[in-house]
Amino acid sequence: MAESNVIDGRAIAEQIHADTRVRIAALKARGIEPGLAFVRVGEDPASRVYVGMKERMSGQLGIRSETRVLAENATEEELLALVGRLNAEARVHGILIQAPLPRGIRAARVYAAVLPEKDVDGFHPVNVGKLLLGDPGGFAPCTPAGIRELLVRSGVPTEGAEVVILGRGDIVGKPMAAMLCQKAPHANATVTLCHSRTRDLAAHCRRADILIAAMGQPRFVKADMVKPGAVVIDVGVNRVPDASAKGGSRLVGDVDFASVQPVAGRITPNPGGVGPMTIALLMQNTVRAAERAAGAG
Ligand code: NAP
Repeated sequence: MAESNVIDGRAIAEQIHADTRVRIAALKARGIEPGLAFVRVGEDPASRVYVGMKERMSGQLGIRSETRVLAENATEEELLALVGRLNAEARVHGILIQAPLPRGIRAARVYAAVLPEKDVDGFHPVNVGKLLLGDPGGFAPCTPAGIRELLVRSGVPTEGAEVVILGRGDIVGKPMAAMLCQKAPHANATVTLCHSRTRDLAAHCRRADILIAAMGQPRFVKADMVKPGAVVIDVGVNRVPDASAKGGSRLVGDVDFASVQPVAGRITPNPGGVGPMTIALLMQNTVRAAERAAGAG
């Protein structure tokens, strides 16, 4: 069991932040401050934590950020009106609407209301379409884009590789599949997208050269589901009870790290793998949005 098979997401995210800082400095030299607006609805504790982390990173990099919070009982129309105001604000280059939205608000309608050129989360149908078509002009969603970057910067080839993705969610699984199946560098993989109706999931997993777990099922992937030497990417964030932890619970991934690490060729830790990359790609997308708005992207 070698420590060295761990893919350090924090270190790779730092490499990306270093590039982002240079681009921000170039924008600021032209009098442009990249701006990112976060929108939260209600007081979901996880959403507060996620937005807080992204705000802090914005501040550290020199991105101006602002957070707008609507009450839990806000209407879809109120949220759409807020999105409309942010769309119209020149100093807001990127808009992120933190999921989950309360029941009663149609998330798809809200995402579609964000201007595609400010949709740094990559959820607008235009950006989703561009991703599927392999058009690099759109914004790709941050988590799958971060995973691709992790693979590239860790020297993991995807060309011809069997990639098995667990979970067909709109935020991770589906866009990840769309990305890696493209006829393009850092793609060209043979992608299998598994979900709750997949027959013999474990057999699919065992074929994978690259196994990406994005299901939201704590420690689901065990050692006997992993081909020796495979690259394992753990996206899941699951809160599980733990009497020994502060607050009585802790976060674990979709991969049983302790048993899988000795079998895997490379593996992401969780935390410290995909999470920091998601934030790094969000910051990168925001700077790109600002560059474009300034006619430089
Ligand atoms: P989601 O939309 O709820 O999708 C979950 C997917 O997993 C669905 O396709 C579901 O199948 C499948 N699934 C669930 N249980 C299964 C099982 N027992 N066997 C087979 N398939 C199963 O979730 P998501 O938004 O994609 O997020 C997935 C996980 O990634 C969550 O834990 C989330 O917290 C985490 N996440 C992490 C980051 C990060 O930055 N680290 C970012 C985003 C999400 P069906 O479609 O058939 O229901």
